Amino acid sequence: MTFTESECSDGMCCFTCVIPSNNRHIGFFRSLWKSGTGSNCVKLLVTSDGYKNELYDSCKFLDFIISQNSFNFSLKMDLRCSIYKSRPNQCMEYPDKAGESLHQKISGPCIFNEYTAPSAYKKLVYKREWQAFYVIRDSSETIRNIFVNEEITVAREKILKAKDVHLVTLCIGKNELDYILIPIPKQTENILYLSEKHQPITAIQQAYHRWEEKIQDNLQHHYGSEWETRLKNAIEMEKEDASKRNNENAACNIEC
Ligand code: SF4
Ligand code: SF4
Repeated sequence: MTFTESECSDGMCCFTCVIPSNNRHIGFFRSLWKSGTGSNCVKLLVTSDGYKNELYDSCKFLDFIISQNSFNFSLKMDLRCSIYKSRPNQCMEYPDKAGESLHQKISGPCIFNEYTAPSAYKKLVYKREWQAFYVIRDSSETIRNIFVNEEITVAREKILKAKDVHLVTLCIGKNELDYILIPIPKQTENILYLSEKHQPITAIQQAYHRWEEKIQDNLQHHYGSEWETRLKNAIEMEKEDASKRNNENAACNIEC
């Protein structure tokens, strides 16, 4: 379909990390519409050293399509909105206008951009580096829902044999459940940057220039009155690192 080809398909923003946790942006009538194939099957797991794992449910309308990439045996994931043409304004405007509620919109980088951002950005703005994964319940029912036309054991084996896929046990509340963990690739070439606001993060200074309000909020939350000093230091450090890298490259070019 043409419209889907003009949108990005990692779908990270369609998990509750950026939409209201109870899907209240969808409204009453839309709650009667059919769910997407990803709903209840796929979750987003965020991990970082020294912090608890965070598990996010997907929006009810997320479609999840999975196939094998025959070149490198990795899994190819395609996450799309099943009500794309009628999706709520909040989703249409994301990430140009995003925020906690419809009335408090602060524009910010989209979650995929933050996922693929340089580690200096994450360490400053989130005080930690984090990794993101799609996770699927390792159960016949879930696998059947995702692979409607395939035999369950064959489909499961295909996923588990794919590159970088792991089986893990996660504690959800009081239960321990088995999940299939699929790393989310950081391939920015698959993303279409459709607006001036929706651009990849390349450096702290560039990001701050573009999303000052949102980033300042995070910094004030993490560092209180020291936020400006922390920001300045991080930008200086990033510049020094970049100039060191340039000098090393120049030296290597001369020697080579
Ligand atoms: S690239 Fe950003 S806006 Fe696009 S689907 Fe991913 S998180 Fe959403
Ligand atoms: S309605 Fe569509 S675009 Fe909005 S969060 Fe749900 S799946 Fe994503």
